Amino acid sequence: MLRIFAGNFRNFNHNYTNILLMISVEEATRIIQSNLYKPEIITVPLEDAVGAILAAKVTADRDFPPFDRASMDGIAISAEAYTSGRRQFTVEGTQPAGVPQKQLSDPANCLEVMTGAVVPRGASLVVRYEDVTIANGVATVNSDDYIPAQNIHRKGSDVREGDVLLLPGTFLSPAEIALLASVGQSVVRIRRAPRTAVLSTGDELVEITATPESHQIRRSNSYALSAALRQLGITASLHHLPDREDALRDGLAKILAESELIIITGGVSKGKFDFVPAILGELGVKRHFHGVAQRPGKPFWFGTAPEGKACFALPGNPVSTYMCFYRYVQPWLRASLGAPVRPLTAILTEDFTFIPPLTYFLQVRVSIHSGKLMAQPVPGGGSGDFANLGQVDGFLELPPESTLFSAGEAFPLVPFRVFN
Ligand code: AMP
Ligand code: MG
Repeated sequence: MLRIFAGNFRNFNHNYTNILLMISVEEATRIIQSNLYKPEIITVPLEDAVGAILAAKVTADRDFPPFDRASMDGIAISAEAYTSGRRQFTVEGTQPAGVPQKQLSDPANCLEVMTGAVVPRGASLVVRYEDVTIANGVATVNSDDYIPAQNIHRKGSDVREGDVLLLPGTFLSPAEIALLASVGQSVVRIRRAPRTAVLSTGDELVEITATPESHQIRRSNSYALSAALRQLGITASLHHLPDREDALRDGLAKILAESELIIITGGVSKGKFDFVPAILGELGVKRHFHGVAQRPGKPFWFGTAPEGKACFALPGNPVSTYMCFYRYVQPWLRASLGAPVRPLTAILTEDFTFIPPLTYFLQVRVSIHSGKLMAQPVPGGGSGDFANLGQVDGFLELPPESTLFSAGEAFPLVPFRVFN
């Protein structure tokens, strides 16, 4: 549903109409999620697959573990001999890891075994060295507490050959990389993430290596965005353009030609030099919305171009940029790549009031109590105060219908940090 606000937001009118068409956060989400990128499937070396989204099912090529495996260093013996009271076993040899299975020739004997070795034929219990004394070629077991099959990791007890280990759409963390390695996948089929460009705009911004003049600031948003993308396995190209129509037109045209996802920061509000929306329009990027009933991040602009290209133009205020990335761009990327999204909610720890009829993204510190996520407000000094981001773990999404949000109520959480 489109909501129309006329004039009542004095400091935020649209560039070319006086009426700002601000849509709800819900509607913005719906539009973004119905304009997904369609990834192709590519093959990459396993070493490069971390952070990517798996495109193919992965099955076990053999049982896990593939043989009865000793899970302790010690001696392998006959469980029957042990349960019938025998405690002394003649050492007849050693079964190291990486050596084919040996045979225990006599239940009165034992073989020394190492962790990861095949349990010898005829043995059915492994007693760890800590419970054994070996003297003159005879091992004495000093414990009566063993049960048959103890310290034997049974063939196929974790996973059976042919079982599905990973499904398409899985985010490849180091744990999945281990699984892929264990089934011999030196190359992996993944869904290719979009070629991504991050563009900052603004004449007040200088490179981070520069010493800013008193009227200048270093461009931090580009680094925040590229770092956030890096964590999703995407290396973006970084660009900066001045607040000049011709430079923006030329620069953006080039970026659009080269990229599938364009994330712009700054230049989308109502300022005299906020040319981004108009230039994007001139370059054939179709605007889906400009203005979302939210704080921070009201001037947020979203559009698409042919060949499935998407363009997120985020307000330059650092907190707005940050929030919009985690609330809109990251879920768009995940959905585009078919990665499951796990919505989170957290419980507000104290009352909070926010009057205007906007969705408010409250900065919160998150902790876990009795298995529940608790969100403590740390509002900070507004959308320019990004020093506050270091104190918080995410944004709590407070809906526009209410003005008072009570301690104990649960709201959606947009996390940007692992918390514990
Ligand atoms: P704008 O959206 O261009 O009107 O910018 C809003 C505010 O965000 C201004 O104070 C800018 O200086 C600041 N800003 C814009 N882009 C960046 C950036 N890349 N890094 C840090 N601050 C920025
Ligand atoms: Mg600007």
